[in-house]
Amino acid sequence: MTDLWVLYEHRGDTMEEATLGLVNEARRLLAQRGGDGRVTVVALGEDLEAGLQDLGTFGVDRVLYLESPDLGIYQGELYASLLSGLIKKHGPDYFLACHGPDNGDLCARLGATLESAVVTRALDLAWGEDGSWRAVRAVNNGYLFERLRLIRAQPLIASFLPAVLTPPQTGSDTQAPIVRVDYESLAPVTACELLEVIEADPGELDITEADIVVAVGRGVGQGDTFGVVHDLAQAIGGSLAATRPVVDRDLLPYERQIGQTGKTVAPKLIINCGISGANEYTAGMEKSQLVIALNTDPQARIFRFTDLGVLGDLHQVLPLLTQRLQELDPERG
Ligand SMILES: Cc1cc2nc3c(=O)[nH]c(=O)nc-3n(C[C@H](O)[C@H](O)[C@H](O)COP(=O)(O)OP(=O)(O)OC[C@H]3O[C@@H](n4cnc5c(N)ncnc54)[C@H](O)[C@@H]3O)c2cc1C
Repeated sequence: MTDLWVLYEHRGDTMEEATLGLVNEARRLLAQRGGDGRVTVVALGEDLEAGLQDLGTFGVDRVLYLESPDLGIYQGELYASLLSGLIKKHGPDYFLACHGPDNGDLCARLGATLESAVVTRALDLAWGEDGSWRAVRAVNNGYLFERLRLIRAQPLIASFLPAVLTPPQTGSDTQAPIVRVDYESLAPVTACELLEVIEADPGELDITEADIVVAVGRGVGQGDTFGVVHDLAQAIGGSLAATRPVVDRDLLPYERQIGQTGKTVAPKLIINCGISGANEYTAGMEKSQLVIALNTDPQARIFRFTDLGVLGDLHQVLPLLTQRLQELDPERG
């Protein structure tokens, strides 16, 4: 029987939608293999149990979870040691995760420990006519795609780009058994110990973690024009992000790119400055709660996604907005 494992994505005790997208992907793969098998969700963290209760209604057959105060924050060595122990014990055929900095690291570690095929930034997996798995993955910031044949894949380890994951349409009223795995029994082996976690300045925060994101596009212009966006991000306590053209010009590093070939963000507030709203960009931000856009073009596609649209030149509007925010909170800026 095929056993597909899906890594539970969560923020604190709340499940992230990517988990359901992965479950959907797992069911699709299972159907390709003839449908005989089960989908297992594997969860690691703290205070997880409440969030796991409804997974059966989305096509999950079983839930395994590991809880410990040690697992409240991702630690590559510890997570990989626990998961590889669990994988060796149960022998699943697949291990699927949603791609991000932590899971890219985790999958690479698992692949090395288990000596098995790893596909990070995966876009597609399919069963080839020759009886082996084929994968497509994005490389070079999405400018190139690789097609791979997976020779040794027991289990097949893949982290999917969030933009290709779609959650199931409807749920059923099925319940999945939820099994707590004894943390100590896995006897994790680690060579280093976490001493301290230092909180980042909001402006330095990973864009997928930030509550407020200030995103900047090509409309910021050439040369020394970036200051207005930096000032706004600082005044509002936001993390700076960008479209691909801005990253391609080295104005911000790749880890700050939003979109199909960048990261998917879902902050409480995103302010889009000088961004046209191409499909490849909006795919990475359309789940944001409150969307504001500032653009000189009334026809810009980004306005279709906004709760508040401002028609204007960012070099005129942003300094006024920053000044007003600084008046409201003089501590910032
Ligand atoms: C396979 C593939 C993958 C891709 N992946 C991504 C991805 O992950 N992320 C991504 O972002 N893109 C991605 N792209 C590129 C994408 O198609 C767009 O080209 C890109 O998102 C456009 O970026 P932009 O909005 O900054 O620039 P533009 O489309 O050039 O838009 C600039 C906007 O700024 C406005 N503007 C100009 N001056 C001002 C001003 N002074 N004040 C206010 N507004 C102003 C303009 O009206 C315009 O709407 C991908 C493309 C491909 C083919």
